[in-house]
Amino acid sequence: MGQITLNQVTKSFGDVEVIPPLDLQINDGEFVVFVGPSGCGKSTLLRLIAGLEDVSSGEIAIDGTDATHVQPARRGLAMVFQSYALYPHMSVRKNIAFPLKMAKMDKAEQDRRVANAAKVLNLTDYLDRRPGQLSGGQRQRVAIGRAIVREPAAFLFDEPLSNLDAALRVNMRLEISELHQTLKTTMIYVTHDQVEAMTMADKIVVLQAGRIEQVGSPLELYNAPRNKFVAGFIGSPK
Ligand code: ADP
Ligand code: MG
Repeated sequence: MGQITLNQVTKSFGDVEVIPPLDLQINDGEFVVFVGPSGCGKSTLLRLIAGLEDVSSGEIAIDGTDATHVQPARRGLAMVFQSYALYPHMSVRKNIAFPLKMAKMDKAEQDRRVANAAKVLNLTDYLDRRPGQLSGGQRQRVAIGRAIVREPAAFLFDEPLSNLDAALRVNMRLEISELHQTLKTTMIYVTHDQVEAMTMADKIVVLQAGRIEQVGSPLELYNAPRNKFVAGFIGSPK
């Protein structure tokens, strides 16, 4: 579970091709970071994988099955949104259970999954509070909880920490890495922050203008950047 393959995927908006033909293999359980400057196509690529945008051409397979034209909700992936996407009038419990309620899941199973997610995220004592009564870090954990209860094949994060202050960002980065170690589920994480990329990733995908400049482990990219762009962004001076 959690293997994602992109085969010659392209995306154009009108006449503008923002993703030229792109191949990418994401393996089960990997923590993959898409990194690159603003406007290079990171969010578009993530949204194509999530199914929130349609590909212009090419195929996307999830766990060996063609998912190119499968609706987002049926891809078995969960996008983690920033914490401001929580419902302020609902309790933490209801916020986390929300996608399960929408799916009309059996109530006992909902409760089981919410309790599990709360345990993993240290939110058990906060389930009856509202988001406004939580710290920024706790709110971000509630947003992650809402993804966990869906038991997805992969988690997709689009710059989830960009609205948090520096100290909290470091904290949440560690928490997300720990969560990956606990769940061992594939995670795809978009950032323009090279420190996040270097510290969190098993595999870094460096993007520039919709093209993959290099794919490799943090160590590979640091020691052997393929070109000046990668070196300037991540690696040691070349
Ligand atoms: P990033 O997330 O790396 O900052 P994006 O994926 O958001 O980059 O955007 C990549 C390029 O695609 C940018 O030039 C952006 O303006 C363009 N783009 C993104 N979404 C749309 C859209 N819905 N319509 C037109 N152009 C878009
Ligand atoms: Mg973006």
